[in-house]
Amino acid sequence: MKTSVRPFLLVLLAILASPAAAGAGLNVVATTPDLGALAREVGGDRVEVSVLTKPTEDPHFVDAKPSFIVKLNRADALIEGGADLEVGWLPALLEGARNDALAAGSPGRVVCSRGVQMLEVPANLDRSKGDVHAAGNPHFMTDPENGKVAAHEIAEGFCTLDAASCDTFRANLDRFTRRLDEKLTEWKAVLSSHHGAEIVAYHNTWPYFATRFGLTINLFLEPKPGIPPTPAHLASVIGRIKSNGVRVIIVEPYQNRKTAESVAEQTGATVVDVAQYPGGVEGTDGGYVELIDYLVRAIAQALEAGAARP
Ligand SMILES: [Zn+2]
Repeated sequence: MKTSVRPFLLVLLAILASPAAAGAGLNVVATTPDLGALAREVGGDRVEVSVLTKPTEDPHFVDAKPSFIVKLNRADALIEGGADLEVGWLPALLEGARNDALAAGSPGRVVCSRGVQMLEVPANLDRSKGDVHAAGNPHFMTDPENGKVAAHEIAEGFCTLDAASCDTFRANLDRFTRRLDEKLTEWKAVLSSHHGAEIVAYHNTWPYFATRFGLTINLFLEPKPGIPPTPAHLASVIGRIKSNGVRVIIVEPYQNRKTAESVAEQTGATVVDVAQYPGGVEGTDGGYVELIDYLVRAIAQALEAGAARP
């Protein structure tokens, strides 16, 4: 990635020399669309939020564009997931951006994993085996309780940077938290009759979602996080799907749907499109709540249809 960034440095210097756009409020950059959605909820009209990755993009392997460096150079705050989610692409961008306000430990650097109880923290790590979850599983935002934790981190960061707007940030946070609490009750009710149901996923994105809603999602089409499926691994997955009676396979926008469909054909399971980011699947553009709402309903529906089939 570094090599793709360097040729643009001269162009960048010219862009960086131009005056930054004038505007009220904090200039906020979020790494991924879920964090961007939370920043908008908490910041309201006191912030200008831009998001680096697309909702249909793999957060581990991001096509880092030179324009990202410009955004980071001008930002008052950077909101990242942390726990190594962005480790493959963010450090080089920050180096290029030369923005002290975003240095590790600065108030402008909001790391949302900070207050999260991480799952799957490995006792030993061997990156040579393709393990991209070195600091525990970084996909914590699929649990709405962690959405609350992240929103709180964001509000604290915003309050430090813009004390005059802190009451607004805290009020927005309260409203968002109350809405999530109400929806959580509803979501748990929707999935309650599927307690313990087993679902196959392409990548290990869903342990937090599974834990919160009482599902079992520990069988993956990838043999290891970040390693593409192999025929031998798929054969063993197909065996387990058949013996366990699994009826649902979930697949994200940037994963190989054809592989999932082929496994589904051989097992009678159904492929369901899911996403960890608002806007990653149809009907989820509204924000974080709309995304979780979609996930809960799409998965519940597929489980019900699967249970109804002979
Ligand atoms: Zn991952």
